[in-house]
Amino acid sequence: MRTPATSEPERAETAAGEAGSEGASFRGRVVLVTGAGSGIGRATALAFGREGAHVVAVDRDAAGAAATAEALRARGARCEHLVVDVSSEEQVQEMIETVGSRYGRLDAAHNNAGIGGSLEPLVRSEKASWDAMIAVNLTGVYLCLRHELAYMARQGYGAIVNTASTAGLTGAFDLAAYGASKHGVVGLTRVAALEHARLGIRVNAVAPGYVHTPMTEPGGGLDPERRAAIFAAIPAGRGARPEEIAEAVVWLCSDRASYVVGHVLVVDGGLTVGDGIPADGP
Ligand code: NAP
Repeated sequence: MRTPATSEPERAETAAGEAGSEGASFRGRVVLVTGAGSGIGRATALAFGREGAHVVAVDRDAAGAAATAEALRARGARCEHLVVDVSSEEQVQEMIETVGSRYGRLDAAHNNAGIGGSLEPLVRSEKASWDAMIAVNLTGVYLCLRHELAYMARQGYGAIVNTASTAGLTGAFDLAAYGASKHGVVGLTRVAALEHARLGIRVNAVAPGYVHTPMTEPGGGLDPERRAAIFAAIPAGRGARPEEIAEAVVWLCSDRASYVVGHVLVVDGGLTVGDGIPADGP
């Protein structure tokens, strides 16, 4: 089955013609966002809606997902929500079957649902926390990829962005399970990209640094002193707004990124650019 609204060259031309025009680049397209009930996922869902997409907002938090869908509809966008735990294969399979039967297409997916967990040195960490982290942050992305890619391969097109993290690119103290899960997401992204590039499906990742969401706000797992030190060390002098990550995700999924394959787009205010040794600037 191949049902894109336009042919590939036409899509590229349309995208070029639309550069800078808001509200059109995803018109008629169906986009799925996991973890859409909060933070980065909610911002991405809203950004896709602004670009004309029909958004399927997925979260295990029913109230959060419903609030995102409501916010999109209030802005005139088309959106429904689904309550799904991405660590359950049965639920992920049902999610893709539901999208297929309701909408008949899946143009793009943002596999973003994730948990932060508490900070603890590896030797003091519990295996139960490791298992919980890997189940959501890594197995959840794997399951979503597997079912989305199978669907997209049948339709012959699609774009996927996974949410990794700068903790998937460098080591970070006290983040063994989180760091391992995000390094895993980077690896999965590259393999999936290689295996599907010839099928017209692009797979990429976004690697945020520190973003102002419930995960990093006071009470979200970072102790206040450490939180302040981390945010002070960011070269840009501040954490990211979720909307700044959403822009990168929307671009990676758009026709404007038609030749970007297997890339990990770092959006971190310069956090991973330098050697981390503080010095006086200009
Ligand atoms: P957030 O505000 O806590 O949002 C995450 C959402 O995902 C929540 O609604 C959460 O629901 C949901 N979720 C968690 N586990 C799920 C599951 N098994 N199935 C379905 N939904 C699930 O966090 P965020 O900061 O936006 O994080 C989004 C992604 O960005 C995560 O993958 C995170 O690792 C990554 N990231 C965040 C930062 C940052 O600084 N915030 C930096 C780098 C990467 P519950 O509330 O019920 O858990």
